[in-house]
Amino acid sequence: MKINIPESDKKRVVIVGGGFGGFKLAQMLARSKVFQIVLIDKNNYHQFQPLFYQVAMGGLEPSSIVFPLRKAFQKRRDVYIRVTEVSSVDTVNRHLVTPLGICNYDILVLALGANTNFYGNEKLAELSIPMKSVSEALFLRNKILSDYEKALSTTDYDKRQGLMDIVIVGGGPTGVEVAGALAEMKDFILPKDYPELNCEEIDIYLIQSAEQLLKGMSEKASLRALEFLTELGVKVKLNTRVADFDGEYVHMNDGTAIRSRKVIWAAGITANQIKGIPAEAITFGNRLKVNRINQVEGLGEVFAIGDMAYMEEEAYPKGHPQVAQVAMQQGKHLAENLLRLQKGQPTLPFHYHDLGSMATIGRNRAVVDLPHWKFQGAFAWLVWLFVHLFQILGVKNKLFIFLNWVWNYATYDQSLRLIIRPRVPRTGEMEVEQ
Ligand SMILES: Cc1cc2nc3c(=O)[nH]c(=O)nc-3n(C[C@H](O)[C@H](O)[C@H](O)COP(=O)(O)OP(=O)(O)OC[C@H]3O[C@@H](n4cnc5c(N)ncnc54)[C@H](O)[C@@H]3O)c2cc1C
Repeated sequence: MKINIPESDKKRVVIVGGGFGGFKLAQMLARSKVFQIVLIDKNNYHQFQPLFYQVAMGGLEPSSIVFPLRKAFQKRRDVYIRVTEVSSVDTVNRHLVTPLGICNYDILVLALGANTNFYGNEKLAELSIPMKSVSEALFLRNKILSDYEKALSTTDYDKRQGLMDIVIVGGGPTGVEVAGALAEMKDFILPKDYPELNCEEIDIYLIQSAEQLLKGMSEKASLRALEFLTELGVKVKLNTRVADFDGEYVHMNDGTAIRSRKVIWAAGITANQIKGIPAEAITFGNRLKVNRINQVEGLGEVFAIGDMAYMEEEAYPKGHPQVAQVAMQQGKHLAENLLRLQKGQPTLPFHYHDLGSMATIGRNRAVVDLPHWKFQGAFAWLVWLFVHLFQILGVKNKLFIFLNWVWNYATYDQSLRLIIRPRVPRTGEMEVEQ
């Protein structure tokens, strides 16, 4: 069965993934009106991953950091959005296989991003909490809040510690930002919400396998991040790996253990895959080897961008960092090259322009590395706020986030500490997917 999309005289570009890379590409191509565009995503919205942790901490509503794909392309006639999960690609017959049917393409762009990497440890995969989607961020919010509710009626000290203490694995920007936000929650919010608990007893651990935090950033940034977290009372363990987790105890490679029911996993990613891509095209971290115009090795009409693409250029001999800027710049550049190819013009090689990186560690504390200027502290924190606000899609989202931040800053409070669990459908109530 074929997916229900009208045939057209225009070439069909199918983009899988409406994240940072796929969304940018679709926007640029839609403007040119040269191609028929099919944008496929398993969700009907674009997610702003850098602010997931604020949803998890109850600081922002999930709806402020997502943007409906249909709304973004309402006025574009040649854009067809389909919400479905692509399972495989047939590169010989040029079609994708999806639960909605087969989708032919003239040009295919894979922009599926990456997922959490548990490095083959199934217990960690089952029991720890990743943060790669807005629903996982909400799950974490529920888990933190329900564990504090349970702690209220737990008299056994050790058991109560297990409910209150939190272990974060991975000292990259996500781990550092989550640790900072949890430390502030412990200082300013939990003592007001749970006066019966001794919040001094809450321990927040950040476990990092390397000898420094924020490995991709400058030494100054990583040292200041460590100082900020220590000031906030976070127990940072460097040069330490989490070896195992049984749901009650987290075991380290140095033989020590921490009693905690919550392990937040921010320790690595692996590119999302679909079946049908030849093994020769797949490299480190499951990324797809691409040339300087993002064409997948050995596959003329298939391109990959963003977190799932592995491209070597002079300044990045081991591939680009897996960050939003790379995905967006590749999306924009590929749009230009596809239009050039269509006009019979030569293509241009991609160059990544590093605009800098940053991380925030609670109020008034952030670290910013710009190409020619590195700074930390309150000004860095303001820069972090404005850069993120600027990047969020949608005027309403920008406004809501700004108001939330002002409110949270002024009141030392976050007003979204609700435990909202999805209703589990009764047997026979499940919607049958076609
Ligand atoms: C918690 C967190 C914080 C981050 N913070 C920062 C930051 O501060 N700065 C920064 O630059 N980067 C940050 N990143 C990284 C950044 O989000 C990624 O580099 C960026 O999203 C990559 O863009 P992408 O287009 O490759 O993939 P994504 O944006 O991940 O988009 C992939 C899309 O593909 C869809 N998809 C996946 N599989 C399928 C399938 N089989 N079928 C259909 N659709 C599918 C997904 O639903 C998604 O919409 C963060 C990431 C996380 C998880």
